[in-house]
Amino acid sequence: ETIKVGWNLDNSYMTLPKIFFSKVDLNKVSSPKLVILNYPLSKSLGLNSDALKSDEGVSILAGNKKIEEGAFIAQAYAGHQFGYFTMLGDGRALLIGEQITPSGERYDIQLKGSGKTPYSRRGDGRAVLGPMLREYIISEAMYGLGIPTTRSLAVIKTGESVIREDIKQGAILTRIASSHIRFGTFEYAANFGSTSDIKALADYSLKRHFPHIADDEDKYINLLKEVIKVHASLVSKWQSVGFIHGVMNTDNMTISGETIDYGPCAFMDTYNPNTVFSSIDTQGRYAYKNQPIMAEWNLCRLAEALLPLLHEDQKEAIKIAQNAVSEFSNLYYINWLSIMRSKLGIFNKEEQDKSIIEDLLNMMEKYNEDYTNTFIELTFNKNSKKGMFSSEEFKNWYNIWKERLKRQSSSEEEILKLMKKSNPAVIPRNYRVEEALEAADKGNFEFMINLINAISKPYEHSKEQEEYSKLPKPSNCSYRTYCGT
Ligand code: AMP
Ligand code: MG
Ligand code: MG
Repeated sequence: ETIKVGWNLDNSYMTLPKIFFSKVDLNKVSSPKLVILNYPLSKSLGLNSDALKSDEGVSILAGNKKIEEGAFIAQAYAGHQFGYFTMLGDGRALLIGEQITPSGERYDIQLKGSGKTPYSRRGDGRAVLGPMLREYIISEAMYGLGIPTTRSLAVIKTGESVIREDIKQGAILTRIASSHIRFGTFEYAANFGSTSDIKALADYSLKRHFPHIADDEDKYINLLKEVIKVHASLVSKWQSVGFIHGVMNTDNMTISGETIDYGPCAFMDTYNPNTVFSSIDTQGRYAYKNQPIMAEWNLCRLAEALLPLLHEDQKEAIKIAQNAVSEFSNLYYINWLSIMRSKLGIFNKEEQDKSIIEDLLNMMEKYNEDYTNTFIELTFNKNSKKGMFSSEEFKNWYNIWKERLKRQSSSEEEILKLMKKSNPAVIPRNYRVEEALEAADKGNFEFMINLINAISKPYEHSKEQEEYSKLPKPSNCSYRTYCGT
């Protein structure tokens, strides 16, 4: 007898007005093969990994077969891409449905690269193996780091080729998300729907993501405030690990506050606030240092879309929205300061902490030090005599920091413990990711498996993990990421 996968699907998204989605016909692929499956994630979703690996399981993950209870829809959305508003929608993704997990949580099961949809425009609806494996690696790294993110359940090779700058292997990623509601979904409703559509989407989002405020009298402004809160927290976490999203368009910002759309993103090695990896971000709009500013800009676009719900008098609505969004920068700063204090082993608050943190960052920039490894050096007091660490200014800073650490009641053990859990030993270094993807493209998955193993436990400070903290050769420094997905 065949084992059941354990699908337990609901399709609440289809209760929204019809303008929010379209039914999608399957675009079958010739010979799907499972490339990688996320065992712990399948388990937490209540899915049986053996059954997922079977022909039956794979044909569902490949978009070759429908599950009767599934939704099989593409979602409509719009968005500001590099500042310009445009109609978008799932052009190469389909939502199978919402899996209700054994613990009662609801997650979207989405196939990315599953073929054309009504929103594909000129695209082929397909995805390439390398970028889908890249999303798998980076999203799982984010999860390991404790940063809200969509996750990756599986990657399937379709057995078909996809034409980009050259011929690539086709692939489909199964993406798991608390939902795929984007700022751009609200912009879509505001621009192409009626006020009752915006209201329906807002009510749905409240119920799904912020049930504790769903019955508030001021629920719509509170929805905006909650989204501001989760993004202030999210972006502070990105900054704290040197993650650069690369394409913070409003269609790539979730209402849930999960990181989504791993295209040209990457982690920075050497600390430089101007770092941009994406080849298409020629203006540096989404450079590391701009991420909090762009998050706020995006929140303004979300707030605009919500205006009709905030007050009958639109002038009043604008005031209410502006007041809410103006809280973002301070909220962000509070989150950031608190994480950075932890990275330096600081438990209590002092006025001076901001300058201790900033002085360190400025020195890191001046001496081209690696962001991640600098904090590891400080955590373990490695006493390196190189670069920044041998400079007079660092020695001064170090004494000030050590003095600061004494002005709290915490013991050395407690400080070490805090720093170990606040400073990752391992981030997915770009050269490691490239090495893993190049091998995987040739059918060798060993590098990828080992890398995923390491990035899944970034706060484990072991000898084994040290291998993955090594820096790339200098030639690797001008790393570029491409959207050619
Ligand atoms: P992104 O830059 O990844 O946020 O994607 C922007 C839009 O382009 C989204 O609406 C995608 O669904 C769509 N898109 C990206 N690649 C393709 C493709 N190969 N075929 C169709 N649509 C695509
Ligand atoms: Mg996108
Ligand atoms: Mg993308």
